Amino acid sequence: MMRIMKVLCPRCKRETEYSRGNPSRPFCSERCNLIDLGQWVDGAYAIPVADASELGSSGPDDERIESAETPRLSPTDPGKLH
Ligand SMILES: [Zn+2]
Repeated sequence: MMRIMKVLCPRCKRETEYSRGNPSRPFCSERCNLIDLGQWVDGAYAIPVADASELGSSGPDDERIESAETPRLSPTDPGKLH
């Protein structure tokens, strides 16, 4: 009953605790939450969006590093769940 549910952050696909301890759920962080929000409002705030940087120019490198270090667990791939 005390198990922690985990989801993938919709923004950076990082494994994230879906719990009361994470106020930004289902995002991994407030930052991803804000970035995603920025996409919805589309220009209301000057928040840089990572889409362009995914091609390899400038951008939030920390996000890419974290993604590389963390195994990408897919809910549709039970072989990697543990
Ligand atoms: Zn995230």
